[in-house]
Amino acid sequence: METVTLNNGVEMPVLGFGVYQIPPAETERAVADALAAGYRSLDTAAAYGNEEAVGRAIRSSGIPREDLFVTTKLWISDAGEEKAARAFETSLRKLGLDHLDLYLIHQPYGDVYGSWRAMERLQHEGRVRAIGVSNFHGDRLVDLMDHNEITPAVNQVETHPFHQRTADQELMRERGVQIESWGPFAEGRNGLFTHPVLTRIAAAHDKSVAQVVLRWLVQRGVVVIPKSVRAERMAENLDVFGFRLTDDQMEAIAALDTGRSLFFDHRDPEMVSRLGNFVLNV
Ligand code: NAP
Repeated sequence: METVTLNNGVEMPVLGFGVYQIPPAETERAVADALAAGYRSLDTAAAYGNEEAVGRAIRSSGIPREDLFVTTKLWISDAGEEKAARAFETSLRKLGLDHLDLYLIHQPYGDVYGSWRAMERLQHEGRVRAIGVSNFHGDRLVDLMDHNEITPAVNQVETHPFHQRTADQELMRERGVQIESWGPFAEGRNGLFTHPVLTRIAAAHDKSVAQVVLRWLVQRGVVVIPKSVRAERMAENLDVFGFRLTDDQMEAIAALDTGRSLFFDHRDPEMVSRLGNFVLNV
């Protein structure tokens, strides 16, 4: 597996497995299948409600801990220095791990500065190898890094052919932050899997649209964590390193950018309020 080197020297697989919207009862089987297919990086979150199932699949896989890269995320209702430190312990306990590879602030709301101080301490103590954020627009990202000690290693943001984040990626590159895509397939919205441009490029390589999209992201230097509950798609999504898109094909995909989210705007006051009022039951 190809890796990227984060700003503190930690190596992160460029392709991992995401478990958002996999029901807890199905997650252990899905993660076990993903590990058997060859995935070594797993992306979960306290808010997904499936950390325990991810942990069970890790334990029963028998894969050495040092071969895995495990990410989870801090939810808004746990923001703040003390609450974040407690939430970290809860996530670790649920995952059955003694350290995390990457801990992310899930949303840019609530007391993110308090959370970040707790996370900096956890990194200094060696409880987490790298810390980062998710869904941070450039202004919030720069403000956080300019007024704290540790620069986020990663910013996980919605990134797919219809919302490409090239300017955001450039800012992150300048500032030493690795961009990571969530929703690489836009969860299938906008007819992604049957899009004529993507279908044409896929046919030229004898690959699927999913493989072309992942290849395009990886070729741009974007870390990807596609989700699937089906073993054959897990294998398909992993098989994106044996071909290369041409400059013309990269440009054809670049032309699909709408510059807008297909999900929601993280600056929409109604969404900020709605997400901020979602309290996790732990
Ligand atoms: P996604 O990976 O863009 O799309 C998943 C959808 O694509 C599922 O419906 C899946 O169906 C289908 N699919 C997967 N592989 C396919 C293939 N080869 N051919 C056809 N269909 C395929 O969506 P996502 O799960 O939202 O994003 C990926 C990960 O990013 C998440 O699991 C999560 O870890 C992370 N994420 C983070 C945030 C955040 O706020 N930080 C938000 C959203 C997601 P099947 O499962 O039926 O195969």
